[in-house]
Amino acid sequence: MIEHQIDQESCDGCGKCAEICNLGLWEVVEIETGRKIARVVDEASRVCHFCFFCKDICPQNAVAIISEEDDILGRILG
Ligand code: SF4
Ligand code: SF4
Repeated sequence: MIEHQIDQESCDGCGKCAEICNLGLWEVVEIETGRKIARVVDEASRVCHFCFFCKDICPQNAVAIISEEDDILGRILG
């Protein structure tokens, strides 16, 4: 299983991850403080292509992609 994580403190809600993901796996939402941040949409029903576009495009380096099957990969990418 692949899990996407976001550093909510670093994310500035720019939306670049949501724009670039062909799966539509990201969305930008407003949280209680009024800040906008990205979050993952229904990860269980979508199979990530592992393209890393979301991670690579993030100007805040706020995206981590974790693979539970491959802990080494998860640690490298995290
Ligand atoms: S790695 Fe690619 S397919 Fe997976 S969530 Fe990121 S942009 Fe989307
Ligand atoms: S690209 Fe990075 S900073 Fe921009 S919304 Fe996505 S996670 Fe947040």
